[in-house]
Amino acid sequence: MQTNFTAAQLADPHVAESEAILRKCVHCGFCTATCPTYVTLGNELDSPRGRIYLIKDMLENGRPADEEVVTHIDRCLSCLACMTTCPSDVNYMHLVDHARVHIENTYKRPLKDRLVRAMLAAVLPYPSRFRLALKAARIGRPFAALLRRVPPLKTFGVMLDLAPRHVAPPSNADQPGTRAADAERRGRVAILTGCAQPVLKPEINEATIRLLTRLGVEVVVPDGEGCCGALVHHMGREEQALVSARRNVDVWIKAADEGGLDAIVITASGCGTTIKDYGHMLRLDPAYAEKAARVSALAKDITEYLTSLDLPRQEAKNMTVAYHSACSMQHGQKITVAPKLLLKNAGFTVRDPAEGHLCCGSAGTYNILQPEISATLKARKVKNIEATKADIIATGNIGCITQIATSTKMPILHTVELLDWAYGGEKPALLQK
Ligand code: SF4
Ligand code: SF4
Repeated sequence: MQTNFTAAQLADPHVAESEAILRKCVHCGFCTATCPTYVTLGNELDSPRGRIYLIKDMLENGRPADEEVVTHIDRCLSCLACMTTCPSDVNYMHLVDHARVHIENTYKRPLKDRLVRAMLAAVLPYPSRFRLALKAARIGRPFAALLRRVPPLKTFGVMLDLAPRHVAPPSNADQPGTRAADAERRGRVAILTGCAQPVLKPEINEATIRLLTRLGVEVVVPDGEGCCGALVHHMGREEQALVSARRNVDVWIKAADEGGLDAIVITASGCGTTIKDYGHMLRLDPAYAEKAARVSALAKDITEYLTSLDLPRQEAKNMTVAYHSACSMQHGQKITVAPKLLLKNAGFTVRDPAEGHLCCGSAGTYNILQPEISATLKARKVKNIEATKADIIATGNIGCITQIATSTKMPILHTVELLDWAYGGEKPALLQK
């Protein structure tokens, strides 16, 4: 794609990077076929190619974001299906990240939108605040249907619908400290305990620590780690995201320097995509660029790390699993084989739902901020998953688990919960009912 940025504009490294990305796009439109919003809405401006044109026009003309740009960029799920499809290696992720920061810096959203976004940014990344909010949601739940019918209050109704009925107390798995290997030691890793995940489903980190220590891996929960920053990063709140990234980089580099780390294990693929991008996010910060790149190189999804342990094949189980590959897993991190292979080796029969490349509509805070498109995508996803007639659903991202669970009776678990069970752990509570 031809671009016409001035030398002064290109002196800004963010603009220079976006220009290099834009120049790679050859307008072929292959990406439109796999874009969930284009497939759902059928509007070119809601396709990757359409958004690329909008971003180019906005940045090239040095314009503040306007309502049209904001509408179509906000509808983007950041699912990155377009990057998997693109034959020209266009880094849409970094382009849309830049556009979102530009929107945040130049566009004044309506008051209600600003309040909702500020609330999400102030609550979701902090487990204690999030836990408190979920407890409060129990009081508001009877009014959810009513709130959904009042347009200015609809977002709050949607949030109440998503809130779980039961909120578990804080888990020991998330307390800082070192968990010794239970077998001959074969590795040492740090685990990202995360922000929303340990509140919504503490069983995931518990299963991960049990499984790893049983396999001979020492697991460190470093003191001071927190949210990876992805939630606010996708809202264009770059400074807040970078504060989270720097804090985690400091904590993990300390853990690596003190006792050595083979990996930083991540159990939410949305977080994994962001942490693997820390090296890029902090590339312009001389104090952090090198350390952040080191952290990104150490970051591994739990299924990537388990693959390196060469687990023994287990006896076949009489259980069929529909594997839902989260967008951040398959498009963001390009991990497509490892989780299914691990499940098959663990004795499960694995089925692939149709249209596996399409997002379930969760996408961080998307299901709250864009509830209509999100609901359409969720219904399509659940229909495809249920058509597999599998016994259970497995996936590797808490956002997908929360989203899909609201619309199906099929039990949905994190892949690592099934692997923990298959390799000596207890049957997951969800399957004991
Ligand atoms: S990230 Fe997903 S929703 Fe956004 S343009 Fe790409 S394919 Fe479409
Ligand atoms: S597939 Fe790639 S090159 Fe083709 S229009 Fe989409 S982003 Fe541009």
